[in-house]
Amino acid sequence: MFLCFCGSVSAEVNSYAERTEVYDQWMKAAKNIAGDDEGAKDVLDFIIANEQKSMPIYTDEGLGIRPLLNGVQKEAKSLLVICLMPGDENTSPEWFETTDNSFAAGFMGDESMSIIVLRAQAQMSDVWKGLLFLHEGFHAMAHVKKFFAEEKDPLRHRVIEEYFAYAMEFNLLRKYGGKAYETLLDKEVVRIKKTDKVAPEYGMYEKELTRIFGKSVSQRETFLRETIFWLNAQFQKIADEVKPEKVDDAIATFLLGCYQNEILQ
Ligand SMILES: [Zn+2]
Repeated sequence: MFLCFCGSVSAEVNSYAERTEVYDQWMKAAKNIAGDDEGAKDVLDFIIANEQKSMPIYTDEGLGIRPLLNGVQKEAKSLLVICLMPGDENTSPEWFETTDNSFAAGFMGDESMSIIVLRAQAQMSDVWKGLLFLHEGFHAMAHVKKFFAEEKDPLRHRVIEEYFAYAMEFNLLRKYGGKAYETLLDKEVVRIKKTDKVAPEYGMYEKELTRIFGKSVSQRETFLRETIFWLNAQFQKIADEVKPEKVDDAIATFLLGCYQNEILQ
């Protein structure tokens, strides 16, 4: 990653306003789904206290990022938030590669700084935008606050962090979806206990998920919600089958397999 703190120009003032508008939409969605959940509120507080709007720029190498200091601050804070406007993908080959067609939001860690990228044209309903922002926000907070510093193995570190991020997400999904979500989850847990296939069965619950979350606005959203729902069921299945003290390890091992088999990215 390459940070550039060159002087502000008028185009950046417009860019700041435009990106702030997109940021506000993502933040509103995150606050709505967070409700009074303590874990989600911690993430929101972290984002609000530390975020610095930024934009992608071209550099010869790596992902170029310029914090939009807006003429007030001298240096960037510990969380750079890039709202990716249409056309930003073409800033550089590296940016193009990072923001492929399936991309709606993402996190990157760089030494003591975190970077969150939020796509302006996310093609996501507010529930999923909110969950995505909180998920990436959790990574950002865990990275800056070094939550899992004792995990020296990089892959294991990643998996534990993902576990916590998903656990927060599943709490919010359960609260949002209520009884209908719980019932559907139980049905999926029963199904996956009977099958050897370790991958989501896409399309199977479209009708039920639409009843709970509303009509999906894109293929990207359909894919995301079915994957997350399946993952929630897998966590539940492990919790049902494994002794309480072994659940964390079993879920971490399961997640590791998902990344190795590219079920998750
Ligand atoms: Zn994640």
